[in-house]
Amino acid sequence: MVPGGYGSSSRKVIVDEGVCNLCRRVWHGIQKASLTFTQRLPRPGETLHGTEFRKGFGGKGANQCVAAAKLGASTAMVARLGNDSFCQDFLCILKNNKINTDHVHITNGVSSGMAQITVAESGENTIVIVPGANSILSVADVQQASEMIKMANVVVCQFETPVETTIEALKITKEGEGIAIVNAAPAITNLDPLVLKLSDIFCVNESEAESLTGMQVQSVEEAVVAVGKLLDKGCKQVIITLGASGAVFASQDNSVPVHVPTKKVKPIDSTGAGDMFVGGLAFYLAYYPELPMKEIVKRSCEVATVSVQKYGTQTSFPTKDDLPAELF
Ligand code: ADP
Repeated sequence: MVPGGYGSSSRKVIVDEGVCNLCRRVWHGIQKASLTFTQRLPRPGETLHGTEFRKGFGGKGANQCVAAAKLGASTAMVARLGNDSFCQDFLCILKNNKINTDHVHITNGVSSGMAQITVAESGENTIVIVPGANSILSVADVQQASEMIKMANVVVCQFETPVETTIEALKITKEGEGIAIVNAAPAITNLDPLVLKLSDIFCVNESEAESLTGMQVQSVEEAVVAVGKLLDKGCKQVIITLGASGAVFASQDNSVPVHVPTKKVKPIDSTGAGDMFVGGLAFYLAYYPELPMKEIVKRSCEVATVSVQKYGTQTSFPTKDDLPAELF
């Protein structure tokens, strides 16, 4: 699963299937999460009785796509699922959020992306991720979706699918007028320079910024330095999200980094906050392209901050009705 958003800030209205004001966004990256709660983590070879089991649906791409869709964006995903018992649940969730699934392929002989998470009472956890079908999302899959990608206002890509697929999606985005957001997550140390060259906005959290710059990024001051380092690597525009401290952004055109604080709240569960931020960013870029970047980042922070005040990931993402009118 790797989400990607494609779009064009200059093309505000696309007419498709008789629907006006349609902004398509495309994401790849889907994953099912199985959460098992135990008193303590099992030792190798040990069998334990757990206290609770929950399942969740995610993957960065799917989360970001659902986040934008819940805000009211017209969205689509480019992704692969395994032909297993979970794929219909996935499709159902995407369709319930009115996400276009024309380019979500079901594959025989491979599982859907999976995350097996065990959480102990101490809060310690172990996580095993099996990329499954995400790892075979191919260049050809993206090429098949090229017409849709070229029409998109915003395209969002993450690093949960093969890098060559992401690069192809970014190249196709450049053939249209869409804005390419690259959310460099999960964290990596070796980044293909082509990804930087082809992305319009490069968005990371603190730990992803640390992996890419080799420096500690735990404060606004450190983020300001890290943003500069990422701009030096060739990013056109960089955003680093900083949890409760909001975000810092800068661009090649205006290289003075700007810190955007977010509201102080009592967080309940910050899982998926970064995905809500990216989904919000894609939504505001597609639907409010006239807003200054500072306002777009501020609103994206604000919708993400709302999400940390609820349990869950996709279930914690706010809809337009949950949010103050001044955000729209
Ligand atoms: P990730 O989930 O990728 O680690 P962050 O933790 O940086 O991403 O969070 C993304 C955004 O979510 C932040 O920029 C902020 O707007 C919001 N956020 C996250 N944690 C908090 C918090 N404790 N209080 C308020 N807002 C938060």
